[in-house]
Amino acid sequence: MGRISHWVDGAPYAGTSGRSADVFNPATGEVTGQVDLASVAEVDLAVASAKAAASQWGRSSLSKRAAVLFAFRQLLHDRSDELARIITSEHGKVHDDALGEIARGLENVEFACGVPHLLKGEHSAQAGAGVDVHSLRQPLGVVAGITPFNFPAMVPLWMCANAIACGNAFVLKPSEKDPSAALLLAGLWQQAGLPDGVFTVLHGDVEAVDALLHHPDVAGLSFVGSTPVARHVYETGTAQGKRVQALGGAKNHALVLPDADLDLAADSIVSAAYGSAGERCMALSVVVAVGEIADPLVEALAVRLPKLTIGDGSVAGHDMGPLVTAEHRDRVRSYVDQGEAAGARVVVDGRTTPVPAEGFFLGATLLDDVTPEMAVYTDEIFGPVLDVVRVATYDEALALVNANPHANGVAIFTRDGGAARRFEHDVEVGMVGVNVPIPVPVSYYSFGGWKASLFGDTHIYGPEGIHFCTRGKVVTSRWPDPATSEVDLGFPRTR
Ligand code: NAD
Repeated sequence: MGRISHWVDGAPYAGTSGRSADVFNPATGEVTGQVDLASVAEVDLAVASAKAAASQWGRSSLSKRAAVLFAFRQLLHDRSDELARIITSEHGKVHDDALGEIARGLENVEFACGVPHLLKGEHSAQAGAGVDVHSLRQPLGVVAGITPFNFPAMVPLWMCANAIACGNAFVLKPSEKDPSAALLLAGLWQQAGLPDGVFTVLHGDVEAVDALLHHPDVAGLSFVGSTPVARHVYETGTAQGKRVQALGGAKNHALVLPDADLDLAADSIVSAAYGSAGERCMALSVVVAVGEIADPLVEALAVRLPKLTIGDGSVAGHDMGPLVTAEHRDRVRSYVDQGEAAGARVVVDGRTTPVPAEGFFLGATLLDDVTPEMAVYTDEIFGPVLDVVRVATYDEALALVNANPHANGVAIFTRDGGAARRFEHDVEVGMVGVNVPIPVPVSYYSFGGWKASLFGDTHIYGPEGIHFCTRGKVVTSRWPDPATSEVDLGFPRTR
């Protein structure tokens, strides 16, 4: 059983707090490691190292930063398989899903490789007589990232690629449930030529997060996780005068209109609802079936679910792995119990699906006739459970989505371009898919939900990420007006 230490000043740092947490392989249920949990003193130490590194890195040339990012991009690409294996061994998702999350993370690194272009300012010559104005964007200093268990490589890459490209030092506090991917990233940054201290990994729990939130030298903080913690992080961090973006939980709906391509919709919904065992912030968790498509759609979903293969994600051929912990698996299963007791129809029952006896497995569940008052509808379950809510009209479907406090992603399935266009304008959700079940924006756009899915006004990665990681400055300068003055250049002027 391995000890999983912090990474400070370009080297592993064995924690001294005396506190640690078990890390499991969810496919076997075995404890595979013990992760150190940082104390307040260790947070102070790590932030001091990051602050010292930031003062140098923030002055580095854009070409140097781009060179490090290109090298990091190549190393990450070359070591993807190894990183995917680490992710699967602690998270449980199948190997292909782990490779998929790395591919999406790589896109963010590729975006950040363009930092010389991304940090270009504006310039107005002769704004007044002899007066020029230009703008520049400068790093914040130390930026912290606090990340969830469900994407242990991608979400840190959402944050750190831009933060580092912009000249900041980045302190990552990964989820204590699957902490090892962060350490591989730290080693790759070092190999890519990033100076020590610019990328730090500090493992920990509430104590570390609260210390980062109150630390005077942490200037900005990106958070991704559940809504209650996102709200706490946003309120506490901003009260301390920090810049905070805090992405929260989700309840993503898919509207299926009566004219939808049934097979396309059913295939898309199955992969988006049950991929990674539903532990994705953009997973579909509610199907809103409009009108007469409900019966054939439920039937099309029901016939597909028994074909999903469930097992150890490190073994090829499985579609779905285990849930992350035994407690989470039990919590998800209890929602199926509650839904059934509240009157939902259990069309496919994951509680009785044959699954490996060891590990934290649960089969895929489909619940029909779900109503908006049921806990299976109001709560984020974050597991392989899909609700079907039946409504009569598009307007009813839209009202349902817009009344939900979560507003991360939404999808519509239809063959009617006019209906899709209307939906795109009417729906109050941050990311919208038209015949696309998981509309995660490409890295040159920015990612973020609305309402309880994001606290703060800046979405993450892409152009808004660059904005978040930098402060603007505008310089107004006056020099003798070339139109009216003669300037003594100290040497003969040729005309
Ligand atoms: P979580 O909120 O439990 O934990 C996220 C991070 O916060 C972890 O690093 C954890 O150590 C820390 N943390 C947990 N409790 C804390 C507390 N009381 N005070 C301070 N810090 C605390 O989330 P999770 O279970 O790791 O991840 C799943 C959640 O993340 C889901 O709700 C999912 O929807 C959400 N998520 C959202 C997005 C998005 O883009 N909106 C992306 C991925 C995951």
